Amino acid sequence: MSRYQVINPATEQVAGTVEQVDAEATDAAIARAHAAWPGWRAVAPADRARLLRRFAEAVDAHVEELAALEVAGAGHTLGNARWEAGNVRDVLTYYSAAPERLFGKQIPVAGGLDVTFAEPIGVVGVIVPWNFPMPIAGWGFAPALAAGCTVVLKPAELTPLTAIRLGELALEAGIPADVFQVLPGKGSVVGQRLVDHPLVRKIVFTGSTEVGTRLAAQAMSQVKRVTLELGGKSANVIFADSDLEKAAATAPYGVFDNAGQDCCARSRILVEASVYDRFLELLEPAVQGVTVTSPDRADAEMGPLISAAHRESVRSYVEDANEPVDIAFRGSAPEGPGFWYPPTVVLPRSAQDAVWREEVFGPVVAVMPFRDEAEAIELANDTEYGLSGSIWTRDVGRALRVARGIESGNLSVNSHSSVRYATPFGGFKQSGLGRELGPDALAAFTEVKNVFIATD
Ligand code: NAP
Ligand code: MG
Repeated sequence: MSRYQVINPATEQVAGTVEQVDAEATDAAIARAHAAWPGWRAVAPADRARLLRRFAEAVDAHVEELAALEVAGAGHTLGNARWEAGNVRDVLTYYSAAPERLFGKQIPVAGGLDVTFAEPIGVVGVIVPWNFPMPIAGWGFAPALAAGCTVVLKPAELTPLTAIRLGELALEAGIPADVFQVLPGKGSVVGQRLVDHPLVRKIVFTGSTEVGTRLAAQAMSQVKRVTLELGGKSANVIFADSDLEKAAATAPYGVFDNAGQDCCARSRILVEASVYDRFLELLEPAVQGVTVTSPDRADAEMGPLISAAHRESVRSYVEDANEPVDIAFRGSAPEGPGFWYPPTVVLPRSAQDAVWREEVFGPVVAVMPFRDEAEAIELANDTEYGLSGSIWTRDVGRALRVARGIESGNLSVNSHSSVRYATPFGGFKQSGLGRELGPDALAAFTEVKNVFIATD
């Protein structure tokens, strides 16, 4: 055990202190999760459903407390943090209906009856990044618990506070001991043990493509199942026939939400050449209108970055480049303590610029013109990522053609929505492997078992 101080990114003051778990304690927790599994999977479906609903109710009763913890411990705006706690409640409620609907198939065969069962996979390790500590945890643990798996959750070292509280609320709601455990600690220690330990049968990893690909290769040596939700460099494609005012007014929120620390951030804006200048004219006041302020204020639309080191990384894309990028215009950010960075719009020289190709994961957006529909799709797809994206046009046929043409898991037309708990979420290409959320999420936490019963 070692003590870790969580820093409030808006004030640089200590927001909380946690005891970090070491490798030995991780092994012990995995053993307990494995021991708890037979009991949990044997809980009758309706009772497992009831327990998940109670867990959801406990989260609902603590939305304000959880939100305040996320504001202080992660710098999320109050509005976002409330939504995020509410999302955990809603995801639990959605998957509370799943235990009683975990259907198999009855398949016609000769000589007997053939049925399939969706059997829980066992202990699931959920590894969460710092950018959305609550929702990303919930997307893993809620369907896993519903499927009859036990869960060991590792929050990011930087943002453990809400995960720890969710673990306590689960116990208070009656989820049996060791069915859902939260282990704060380092990725290289706790996370790595989850990947290496043979009794963990499945890893749900959300984070960087770099760490995710390495973990997946290690997991494969045990044929351990993995779901990966990795980085993104998504395009916001704006056609001349769109509602240009609305496209410009909403573009900042499609990329600067959570200070751009969002895997779905539309960090590349592609604009049809004939309206490029007009779009930038409209974008400037929209960017300057983003309220960047203390995240505990009700009117805050953007808060600080997570850490000083991360701000340095974001800044380097804009200010320390060998050939500095052309800054079109910027919004504002508070002075003084806190890891602030203003919303920034840059004009890359070419599609080879780092700021156009790499995931900056901060409030920086690059804008580039395109000639026609074919070039828009080509530019949008000129990336190893494929997580989300938006298409702005009034032409329904074009919207569908472009949506089908972009290699990405989550697209929205005339909006920037990516995530709804009732619809599948995940990436193409190096943005990930597998899908979370939606009606089929339990497939990632179950194995199909086929049983034939002779009738002779
Ligand atoms: P990260 O460095 O990859 O870390 C993610 C998680 O993995 C953290 O909990 C981390 O622990 C842990 N980890 C690190 N090394 C590990 C190891 N050797 N074994 C096991 N676990 C290990 O990512 P991040 O910097 O926190 O998050 C930013 C990235 O996440 C971005 O690239 C973003 O696009 C991506 N992301 C993707 C999605 C999506 O759904 N596709 C959603 C959100 C974020 P520590 O924190 O203790 O190091
Ligand atoms: Mg990291």
